Amino acid sequence: MEKIRYERPVIKKLNTGVMNKYGTRTEYTPVTNIDGARVKDLISEFGSPLFVMSEQTIRKTYKDAVRAFTTRYPKVQFAWSYKTHYNNAICSVFHQEGSWSEVVSGFEYNKALLNGVPGNKIIFNGPDKTDDDLILAINNESMIHIDHLDELYRIIELTDELKKRPKVAIRVNMDTGVYPMWDRFGFNYESGQAWDAINKIILTNKMDLIGLHTHIGTFMLTPSAYAVAATKLLDLAFHIKSKFGKNITYIDMGGGFASRNTLKGSYLMGADSVPTFDDYAEAICSALLNSEYSKEDLPLLILESGRSLVDEAGFLLGTVLANKRLSDGRKATIMDFGVNILFTSFWYEHKISPAQEFSHYTEDSVIYGPLCMNIDVIRENITLPPMKKGDNVVVHTVGAYNMTQWMQFIAMRPNIVMIDMDGKPHLIRKKETLEYMNSLEITPEYLKDFKL
Ligand SMILES: *Cc1c(COP(=O)(O)O)cnc(C)c1O
Repeated sequence: MEKIRYERPVIKKLNTGVMNKYGTRTEYTPVTNIDGARVKDLISEFGSPLFVMSEQTIRKTYKDAVRAFTTRYPKVQFAWSYKTHYNNAICSVFHQEGSWSEVVSGFEYNKALLNGVPGNKIIFNGPDKTDDDLILAINNESMIHIDHLDELYRIIELTDELKKRPKVAIRVNMDTGVYPMWDRFGFNYESGQAWDAINKIILTNKMDLIGLHTHIGTFMLTPSAYAVAATKLLDLAFHIKSKFGKNITYIDMGGGFASRNTLKGSYLMGADSVPTFDDYAEAICSALLNSEYSKEDLPLLILESGRSLVDEAGFLLGTVLANKRLSDGRKATIMDFGVNILFTSFWYEHKISPAQEFSHYTEDSVIYGPLCMNIDVIRENITLPPMKKGDNVVVHTVGAYNMTQWMQFIAMRPNIVMIDMDGKPHLIRKKETLEYMNSLEITPEYLKDFKL
């Protein structure tokens, strides 16, 4: 008879604080495939770690957001926030769905042009627009959102040189009851800065003020803040109408809707607690509809949602490198991905699922990345079933900002794959190589010679 395999005993330390008033969290089921593509197959074909984007989830989430707004308001336009995920394939999915683009730098602006977005469907935000960027945007008739007076005066100078009338909006910041207030971008509403900029733009008569813009924050958990913001923009719009007899073409409410991630320190999982698109839409659209506007004069409502449209569509597949015990007895698991490619683990408690069957035992663990850096912690405290070296995991809700904010530190950035609507994987960004990295570096000749 075969000897029965040894199974290690499990002793569990009971920690106060693991339970909360809603009970314990049950977030563990094996995730063996994404949209029908097997996790193990993806890793063997494209390597580990690997970012995986779900086209199906992007399209579904986008349609859900559009429905929430178009059922409540007659004129709605989304503009994809490039900085959230500017991989060309991902942007193209949004453009196929009808989204314009929202960019915050010359680099992003040119990326949008190269993706085939017409200049007049590009919204140009941000405090740093060079002369070349501004000239390009003016010639392309893009919507230029002015951030500060220095930029306003520079545009006035350029209009004289170019003999063009740029289409502009101003970015407005304001007190919406959510603190800290984002007041470093644009012109302040309460102090009169915004009204001052509006007067300067209209009375110098060198450009067309076609819109008013705000972006009040990110991961906003209070939809009512958007109602306050919309009301303040509308107040400016009515002042423009009564003083100058001009109607604003659009109100741009920016982004900032929360994704279904779990912020560190929150009681409930994000999926159970964050507002829905309907909640945000209700706040914004009611403010517009209940205003003094007649039906014909209602402005176009532009939304620049980033995070909430793409976060859930992103997954990070990874592999267990090793397990060890910390001096306080806790279990530590080291993964092959770290904060260099999962920047958002500084703010979120990312859900992590084993990618294979496991026992029903769980243990409090710390999840570390592979970097030689003490802050490389993916989860400080997570209850996970034991996993062996070589086992795989799926990290959820990583589609926003990670693939633009990732750092090239110690290791190369990995492949990104998108699973199409039929479950077929497409490589949409190649992993970096030493050859590529070295192609950017130049060692002066005199340093090449040494003897050791
Ligand atoms: C980043 C950004 C967005 C997108 O923000 P999310 O919080 O990801 O929705 C929209 N507009 C502007 C101006 C931005 O800077």
